[in-house]
Amino acid sequence: MTAKIYYDNDADLARLKDKTIAILGYGSQGHAQAQNLRDSGCNVVVGQRPGSANYDLAVSHGFEPVSAAEASKQGDLVNILLPDEVQGDIYREHIKPHLVPGNLLMCSHGFNVHFGQVEPPEGVTCLLVAPKGPGHLVRSEFERGGGVPSLIALSDETDEEARALGLAYSKGIGGTRGGVIETTFAEETETDLFGEQAVLCGGVSELVKAAFETLVDAGYQPEMAYFECMHELKLIVDLFYQGGLGYMRYSVSNTAEYGDYTRGPRIINDDTRAEMKKILQEVQAGHFARDWILENRAGAASFKATRRMQREHPIEEVGRRLRRLMTWIDSKEV
Ligand code: NDP
Ligand code: MG
Repeated sequence: MTAKIYYDNDADLARLKDKTIAILGYGSQGHAQAQNLRDSGCNVVVGQRPGSANYDLAVSHGFEPVSAAEASKQGDLVNILLPDEVQGDIYREHIKPHLVPGNLLMCSHGFNVHFGQVEPPEGVTCLLVAPKGPGHLVRSEFERGGGVPSLIALSDETDEEARALGLAYSKGIGGTRGGVIETTFAEETETDLFGEQAVLCGGVSELVKAAFETLVDAGYQPEMAYFECMHELKLIVDLFYQGGLGYMRYSVSNTAEYGDYTRGPRIINDDTRAEMKKILQEVQAGHFARDWILENRAGAASFKATRRMQREHPIEEVGRRLRRLMTWIDSKEV
């Protein structure tokens, strides 16, 4: 089954002519989507709390930010671009009371709608428009005349008006220039969570740490272990990005390629695959979402403690030191 993909010709910006789009949050996605829509001729109102750098940024970009409640009142399309873990509370208190039938409730990630933290009132369809890239890229590609591919999903797939408005919105942020893939709230949310847990964040971090520890425990210098197990990962990922696994294998030595085929499957083995299936089932059953929501209700104490501990891992210490020596790296410290 291949996905349905929409392009510029499938979308009509005129659909948004008489609409007001409320962008709640002026962070990574908010600042990019608000500016792209405005440049596309749409009426945008920004909802952003005062007293923060993002508020000042919105003002410096020529917006006049209002409260989330006020923006929700004004908006025909109301896009919640706040951190996922605060959306439920802010929605119930400041957004929901101002939605009227015919409004569209939007988001760029389906977590809260799919797991019931954001429930639209009667007569309001939920619309997901999710750029497959960070906000700064959504903005810079748009300014270059391109666009980051996006996803679209509807809580009511028979709502053709909402689909047309969603495609117009996607065009307004540049998404249809790159292609807009139709998905569902369930598919977007579940694949996103699984991907970040199994590969992007969880899987790869643990793989790197385990390999680093294996070398250091065997008596090799941590600097060598850092270069081999973390630093060089970027070269490999860049090759994946440009030409998939095949291009990586074409570019590395035959020795590396032979090691890949013969040893890789011993690292990711049947046990790992079984565990991946379990992780996927926890995501699908809503167990992961429940854990994360409860963690936040409890003040995220154990989450914050883990974050602190992880920062002190030896690979982080040696990494900080080595990155300072590599002046061409735009090195960051949190
Ligand atoms: P950011 O963290 O960059 O921005 C969050 C915004 O929400 C800021 O304007 C922040 O303002 C405001 N905010 C944070 N906490 C509160 C609060 N308690 N009350 C009121 N306002 C608050 O978020 P992102 O842009 O990364 O994420 C927004 C959505 O987009 C999420 O659903 C995310 O999953 C999705 N998404 C993100 C992508 C990305 O690459 N970043 C990619 C695709 C989707 P302040 O400065 O005042 O804190
Ligand atoms: Mg994601």
